[in-house]
Amino acid sequence: MYPVRTCVGCRQRGDRADLIRIINSQGFLKIDTQKSHPGRGSWLHSSSKCLGIAVERSAFGRALKAKMDHEQIEELANFIEQAEKMLKN
Ligand SMILES: [Zn+2]
Repeated sequence: MYPVRTCVGCRQRGDRADLIRIINSQGFLKIDTQKSHPGRGSWLHSSSKCLGIAVERSAFGRALKAKMDHEQIEELANFIEQAEKMLKN
């Protein structure tokens, strides 16, 4: 049985391995690259579409009580862009 998580963007469930984990680190969003940081985390498909939906719905702020500024959204977007590129290659 695979561990299944729900994407905060599209709300579809996905394999833990296919989602990135985002945590609240001292009040700010941070990508949990090891997916093992203790505490609350939000899961997101590695997809700019899902990120867009999550940002629009302020999903991270609500789920994690973290601040979300432009810099962090950009960081997330870059991270996802890299991941998408890697998948395509
Ligand atoms: Zn999604």
